[in-house]
Order: sequence, then C-alpha cells, then structure tokens
Amino acid sequence: MVDAARPTAGGRHAATRVLSRNESSHSPSPDIVATVAASGREVNRYPDPACTGLTLALARRHGVEPDRVAVGAGSCALLQALFQLAGPGAPVVHAWRSFEYYPILAGQMGICSERVPLADDAHDLTAMADRITATTRLVVICNPNNPTGTLIGLDRLRAFLDRTPPTCLVALDEAYFEYVDEPVGTGGLGLCDTYPNLVVLRTFSKAYGLAGLRIGYLIGAPRIVASLRELSLPYAVSGPAQHAAVAALGIEEVLLARVRETIAERTRVRAALMADGFAVPASQANFVWLGLGEDAGPFGRWCARTGIELRAFDGDGIRVSIGSPSDNDALLAAAHQWRVPDAPELLTTGAVR
Ligand SMILES: *Cc1c(COP(=O)(O)O)cnc(C)c1O
Repeated sequence: MVDAARPTAGGRHAATRVLSRNESSHSPSPDIVATVAASGREVNRYPDPACTGLTLALARRHGVEPDRVAVGAGSCALLQALFQLAGPGAPVVHAWRSFEYYPILAGQMGICSERVPLADDAHDLTAMADRITATTRLVVICNPNNPTGTLIGLDRLRAFLDRTPPTCLVALDEAYFEYVDEPVGTGGLGLCDTYPNLVVLRTFSKAYGLAGLRIGYLIGAPRIVASLRELSLPYAVSGPAQHAAVAALGIEEVLLARVRETIAERTRVRAALMADGFAVPASQANFVWLGLGEDAGPFGRWCARTGIELRAFDGDGIRVSIGSPSDNDALLAAAHQWRVPDAPELLTTGAVR
C-alpha cells in the first residue's frame, strides 16, 4: 500500500506520469533487486573506496586497462571533478542549449561558462573550436545532446579534436550512448588512444536503469583518471551501487533489449507528434525535443494538468522522455488535444487551456 504522506521516488505524486527526467521506464530486473537487497546486509560497513570489482568489470567490458577507468557517484560527480580540475582561471566551453548541469557546475566552481549556440538543434563544432584559446582547459560535448537528442558523428568529432590543443581537456558526455541506433561506430571510446586529452563519460542512470543508485564512470588517460580519483569524496559510491552496476553489466543483453523497445517507442512518439504538426528533431536518445519557443511553458502546464510531467524550458522548448507505451499514449493524446483543440475529447480530466 502506498502511504500518502510518504513521497514516492523523486518526491512526486504517485499518479503522475513522469516523462521529465530521462529515467528508464522499466522497473529494475529481479537480479538487480536481489543484488541490492543482499548488499543491504553490509551497509554498516564502508564500501570499497576504489570500486575495485566494478572498475575491473568496466575495464574488461571496454577492453582497457583498469587505470583508465574512474567510477563516480553518477557521471555528474565526475563532471564536477573535471570542472574542479579545470580550475577557476579559464572558461569552460560547451554548447547551448545542452545539459543544464554544465552552467550550474561552472557557477558553483566560479568558472565562466562559454555557451556556443546550437546550429539546427545540434552542436556547432566549428564554432566551438573557434572559441578555444591557448588558456581553455575544458570543453564539454554532450553526444547525443540533452535536451535536443541530436548526434554528431565520429568524423566531425575527429575533425574537432584535431583542432583542439592537447592542453585542453575534451569531455565527451555519452549519457545516452546506448540509445544511438545510427551506424556511427562505437562512440568516442575508440578515439581515446589517438587523443589523450579526450575523456568519455557514461552512466548507469539511463539505459542501465540505476538512476536511484547514483553511479557513472569515465574512461580516459591514466594521468587524468588518477587526478579525478584524488578529487573524489571518500566512499562516495555506495556498496549497493557498486554491486548493482556489476550485476547490470552481467545482464546487459536484457537491458539492451529494453533499450530497443525504448527506441521503437521513440520512433512511434516522434512520428505521431510530427503528424500533429510538431517539429521534432530526429533523436538518438531516450527523449524527444519540441522546440515550441513561447509555447513551451503553456504546453508544459497543459500536460501537467493532465497528470503528465515534462521538462519545460520556458521560452525555448520541451523535453519529453520516452516512457512506457501507456505513458507515451497519454502524452500523445494530450499533445493531440493541444494541437487540434476541436478534436473529439481525448482526455479524461476535462482540463481546459
Ligand atoms: C542524465 C545525464 C547524466 C547522468 O547523470 P548521473 O549523474 O550519472 O545520473 C549525465 N549527462 C547528461 C547529459 C545527462 O542527461
């Protein structure tokens, strides 16, 4: 039974359809639940500070030496360490609009964030390279981009890296890598040998369905990995998180089958929205972007009244996470009603605009 006084995950009302945080819509598999329960028996002890088992499993998984893998309490913790490493003296270059946490981090660290506007909803790597000076210490590239879902291919990444001085770190945030279905190779990891200033961030929060456990990782040159490890908080990654991540790597096939379902839903949702006249850039992530401009806020509130939580960026656009088929159906009904107000009543709430 749900205790009404007790907030559910994320502090939301239980009835809300949550399409705002790009979480996996699938409940954790029984293997993961059992692993977390079992590791609960040891929470009187501090966890392994070096995340040894997971580091070795990730090194094996990606065919790299363990000294090239840094594990963090979510990839956000590793991003924070990267910004800290860059230091307050030089600006950080990133695209905009992109992941909202980048400028927040820069603000927290007293770093100036240089926002390079997207071109056609995608990173403008030429403009970004033009911004880099001899003092630039860090560039962040979100690929696929959150919140627009657009992907830049490896050929263009390579051209960008060729223009970047080795003194400037390039952080490639691949939080949505598993949702890419374009034949673009294997992501940025294959470039790390050629470009030692490149680090690649991945997370267990999205495709691996462990957002609530806070765990992510980075692969890069041993020198950078060692610096990041020195900056981490003691025991930041919990035991249940470490064990669950190892277990998730063990059932990767199951999780990637779920990712394929999400990709199929993404295709369906985008097509239906476009049929209703929304402009929706092709997405390679587990969300789609509606560049509604001034209508973003009103559309977000319209959906909220029907019990659907989206991520609205006022005056700019709406990010819609791909959820379960029934949550997606509810979203599509609300969007259709918004777009075609004279259509037969599709909503059950009787909400008015
Ligand atoms: C969700 C997301 C992350 C993952 O953050 P965690 O701290 O690992 O949960 C990182 N980068 C981007 C762009 C994201 O959207």
